[in-house]
Amino acid sequence: MTFLTENELKKYGKTYSLSKKAIALVNHQKINWPLAAENYPSLKMVRTSTFSFGHFRIDCQFNPGRIRSSAANTDASAIQARPCFLCETNRPEEQSGIPFGEDYVILCNPFPIFPYHLTIPLNRHEPQQITGHTGAFLRLASELQEFAVFYNGPQCGASAPDHFHFQAGIRDVLPIEDELTELLQEHSTELISTPDGRIVSIENYLRRMICFSSSNSKQLEHWINTAVSVLPVTSPGEEPMLNLLAWYSAGTWQVILFPRAAQRPREYYADDFDRLLVSPAAVELGGLIILPREEDYFRIREEDLVSIFSQVTLQKKDFELFKNNLIQAI
Ligand SMILES: [Zn+2]
Repeated sequence: MTFLTENELKKYGKTYSLSKKAIALVNHQKINWPLAAENYPSLKMVRTSTFSFGHFRIDCQFNPGRIRSSAANTDASAIQARPCFLCETNRPEEQSGIPFGEDYVILCNPFPIFPYHLTIPLNRHEPQQITGHTGAFLRLASELQEFAVFYNGPQCGASAPDHFHFQAGIRDVLPIEDELTELLQEHSTELISTPDGRIVSIENYLRRMICFSSSNSKQLEHWINTAVSVLPVTSPGEEPMLNLLAWYSAGTWQVILFPRAAQRPREYYADDFDRLLVSPAAVELGGLIILPREEDYFRIREEDLVSIFSQVTLQKKDFELFKNNLIQAI
């Protein structure tokens, strides 16, 4: 594994910020790593269709390159049986990186959804668990200002649940980025308000979620950690099921927490003709459904989207309880 120096990165783009360096890194990998060189150009060929739900939309992307991730077997036995692709010793020699602090490395994701798609693993093989990494998540969002940064829980879309990592995709791809301002103004309920920020819930959106907006990173870190601590736990000793999505603009973080009820919808497990290979993670909850199989791209309907979101996110009763617990705990 090699870290690219600023001089090397300069051949592939600007380097005056971490965000620009990350873009230069992807440009470097598209030329110097055959896997990235093959997969990034084919991203231009992916097809996208849009379902409109009035004040929001869901985009569906046919992306065959993502079959490995969407169909990943994340059972403990399957995970143990394979070499961890995020550990430095197992990563391909051509995969270069740039450091993020002392504990993380920014890598180019070789199976892109976004024209610039990053994976940011911890430098140690430790399980995917957000506790203890919330501060880094916020720092990453504020330093990668041209990216939306996200976290997928171990049973919520992470294809390496045994190795802690974040991901980031270039901004203005996910529908939710377009929609959040209107959602906050027209479709949100305020739970907490302080001079630095506020917490709201949004429910009129197929999936129930909490949005934290703040200019104060310490306050935000406390809010997110508190929310994680009061979320319902599905299996004892494990992290509550959740996805996080964040971006930073004009001095303010927007952090969206999607509490989860299931890893995959029943459509994922259905037989042949009824099957839809959809494995929801932060990207899907951001409004972009990744479909690695062409037949699913042609078959998926509006009612399937309603069904999928309702199964994998919290139902009204559980969400009410979570909101009340969050308000009390903060
Ligand atoms: Zn590992």
